[in-house]
Amino acid sequence: MTSLTAKELLGSALEQGPDFALSLDHSDPLSGFRERFDLPRGADGAPAIYLVGNSLGPLPLAARDAVTEELERWAALGVDGWFEENRPWYDLDERFLPSLGALVGAGTNEVAVMNGLTVNLQLLLASFYRPSGRRRRILIERPAFPSDRFAVQTHLRWHGLDPDAEILEVGSPGTGAPIDEAGIEEALDVHGEEIALVLLGGVNFLTGQKLDMPRIVQAARSAGAVVGFDLAHAVGNVPLCLHDWDVDFAAWCHYKYVNAGPGAPAGVFLHERHATDTTLGRLGGWWGNDKATRFRMQLDPDFVPRPDAAGWQLSCPPVLAMAPLGPALSLFDEAGMGRLREKSVRLTAYLEWLLVAGLGDRIEILTPDDPGRRGAQLSMRMPGWADRVQARLQEAGVVGDFREPDILRLAPAPLFNTFHEMWLTAGAVRAALEETP
Ligand SMILES: *Cc1c(COP(=O)(O)O)cnc(C)c1O
Repeated sequence: MTSLTAKELLGSALEQGPDFALSLDHSDPLSGFRERFDLPRGADGAPAIYLVGNSLGPLPLAARDAVTEELERWAALGVDGWFEENRPWYDLDERFLPSLGALVGAGTNEVAVMNGLTVNLQLLLASFYRPSGRRRRILIERPAFPSDRFAVQTHLRWHGLDPDAEILEVGSPGTGAPIDEAGIEEALDVHGEEIALVLLGGVNFLTGQKLDMPRIVQAARSAGAVVGFDLAHAVGNVPLCLHDWDVDFAAWCHYKYVNAGPGAPAGVFLHERHATDTTLGRLGGWWGNDKATRFRMQLDPDFVPRPDAAGWQLSCPPVLAMAPLGPALSLFDEAGMGRLREKSVRLTAYLEWLLVAGLGDRIEILTPDDPGRRGAQLSMRMPGWADRVQARLQEAGVVGDFREPDILRLAPAPLFNTFHEMWLTAGAVRAALEETP
């Protein structure tokens, strides 16, 4: 990030001192949302500087009430809770769909809440990975998140195919260099007739790089491949237009930037043309069946899929685990993804500018410096001084995330992080470096 861009984003008064940070917080229209969270606290009892919302978002206050309410309804209603008049569990998951659709740029018939992320990847691969003749390879990125890689490897083996032969990886062999969209296009161009499916992270978990998703959809489509995205690090972080981008399918979790709690039920997107196609093969269960006949049990023995993304559901919703999702999504409805993204770009640019201005070329930032090519997260490599940085950050009450061997990930989240926190964080990193010969 050049200081020119930083000035464009943050104002020409941009300077190193804490007053500038405080003035940014003062004029932040979203500053009130911080009070809506119960943030983890440090040893001194003060809220931590929580920069790991990309791993596990903090607790929205209203989520606690939502869970308690469902416990009370369970106690009071028992099995009648499924059909009780006001808020039956029967269609609990469907009540989230308008907010969720808005968040990912999809119609309510194109999204569903179900299972965990990796389970959903497997279910979607079951529907969308159809190897045929020479066309049987799956294109993924390097480094792919381990679970995604394992899902693809085991899925290929389950088809009787050899993952070493059928996985095509794009990206750098080491960790950390950004993935070049032109490289993906080239791979699709050269190997197009062999590629059945493309599965990429919309925002890479390690580097924080955001891919140009519509560009990749176009390239995959012209190569004749199906294209899906893992949006674990993208949902609630960057604006998405899955329907308009013509993505075939996507999957994500809700416990990272969406703040719906550890292991929260995950999300899927299937483009309308697939979601409404009841002939599309799938691994089904009763919750994906037409609602009218779902409970007829032995009277209607044949599976009749619902003509929407929820037709990929298998089991009844885990009510207690799902309860926080409503309040978590409401915060996005209220704040608006446009405003959140605007603050996010500024927060991350400010942190980066402080780090680079203070540390110059002693710090290697892996995340692209163009705000259009990244989300909230900054990843940096610090060979030889990761330990010292970890200690200094801890002292300053900063919760960051270290990935072996030497990568620090910091993810300022616009719903609850402040500009002043960026200033304190950069100060702690600088102090660590100054102690390092
Ligand atoms: C967080 C994350 C996962 C985790 O998968 P679960 O099934 O929720 O445990 C998978 N893939 C990516 C890219 C992730 O970022």
